[in-house]
Amino acid sequence: MNAYVERVIKETAAKNPNEPEFLQTVTEVLTTLAPVIDKHPEYEEAALLERIVEPERTIIFRVTWQDDEGKAHVNTGYRIEFNGAIGPYKGGLRFDPEVNLSVLKFLGFEQIFKNSLTTLPIGGGKGGSDFDPHGRSDAEIMRFCQAFMTELQRHIGPNTDVPAGDKGVGGREIGYMFGQYRRIRNSYDNGVLTGKGLTYGGSLIRPEATGFGVLYYANEVMKHEHDSFEGKTFVLSGYGNVTWGAITKITEFGGKVVTISGKHGYVYDPDGINTPEKIAYLLKLRASKERNVKMYADEFGCQFFPGEKPWGVKADVYIPCATQNEIGIEEAKKIVANGAKYYFEGANMPASNEAVAYFQKNGVIVGPAKAANAGGVAVSALEMSQNSMRYSWSREEVDAKLKDIMKNIHDNSVAAAERYGLGYDLVAGANIAGFEKVAEAMLAQGLF
Ligand code: GLU
Repeated sequence: MNAYVERVIKETAAKNPNEPEFLQTVTEVLTTLAPVIDKHPEYEEAALLERIVEPERTIIFRVTWQDDEGKAHVNTGYRIEFNGAIGPYKGGLRFDPEVNLSVLKFLGFEQIFKNSLTTLPIGGGKGGSDFDPHGRSDAEIMRFCQAFMTELQRHIGPNTDVPAGDKGVGGREIGYMFGQYRRIRNSYDNGVLTGKGLTYGGSLIRPEATGFGVLYYANEVMKHEHDSFEGKTFVLSGYGNVTWGAITKITEFGGKVVTISGKHGYVYDPDGINTPEKIAYLLKLRASKERNVKMYADEFGCQFFPGEKPWGVKADVYIPCATQNEIGIEEAKKIVANGAKYYFEGANMPASNEAVAYFQKNGVIVGPAKAANAGGVAVSALEMSQNSMRYSWSREEVDAKLKDIMKNIHDNSVAAAERYGLGYDLVAGANIAGFEKVAEAMLAQGLF
């Protein structure tokens, strides 16, 4: 292991003792970068790693809002502007009770490399709030979004920082936030947010993009393995946007999805969650006040396992699409014992570093989040392009670009790993390919 890498990991741990998720990502990324750092002694002189693990700017603010009964609530709002070397800060907003500085710093750090890997000019950022949307009415969601944007608007802009959705933030929330931004700024800066509705500057395919992208990326892996999706069984976690997009594409590719999950438990549907009616039900579930996946089991008469995760269910391909740290070493052992061949990350950091290492050691091909789920942010960058051109591409045009981007992400990851003699290692390859561009841009821009 490279001594400089080791020192920076240690220093990051000492400096951020209460940020386990952030440290997990920093350790994973920097460890795989060791062979690159070996070749570039100038990085240490420029304190490049110390700089890359430190956000350029961290904004923390109070969000006060009123519920339907008139009661006042206070949440914490965040925006981490992590790295702007290759473009405006770009990344989603997450509304989830588990949100804290550690979670957002891990997501923001990941985003730097993911965004770079798309080959588009976007820096890395992330934000959100510990607000819990479960059980909240539409009016409450609107008031929260307005309160959140009342502060956030002074920090963002189409050339500064461009937020989007993430867990708990979809088209509806982006709409309310865009409305509030426009009201306060009196300016039609539609490039300030992505994931907008189609009537006010959104891009076709953006809602589907993350899920579609996972499958386009997986398809490149299949080609590399001389394999196909036809007849394969898939286990997915989550029920939101990513899960919905992935299931839509898996269905088109001839695969069968047997599970979805949420914080209440998981659903097992042996007939396959693949009919248009079942897929459309996921949208209803996400728009409901309860957001409980048991509703799906009741609707279609299948089994619901309260409080459990789906990793014990046998499948060929596993795609976690829910949230971070769903898969520890015990779950990884189950997945390997089930005879899995492929594991693609629709969610960000769904598995521990130990679990990913276990997959790789046991011959499961790992498509890491920053490559596999980069389709969402890639189409966000295409949305920014369309907004600045004041023009819209057709569905076919966006889809073709997304396919092309996902193929390039796969091929660039493979090439980067091969350059360092690492073989078909998509995890190291994604980190290296993402890092190289950002590192060169940072060096070129001098100390900052
Ligand atoms: N939240 C998504 C991600 O994790 C999308 C971000 C964006 O579109 O800016 O990449």
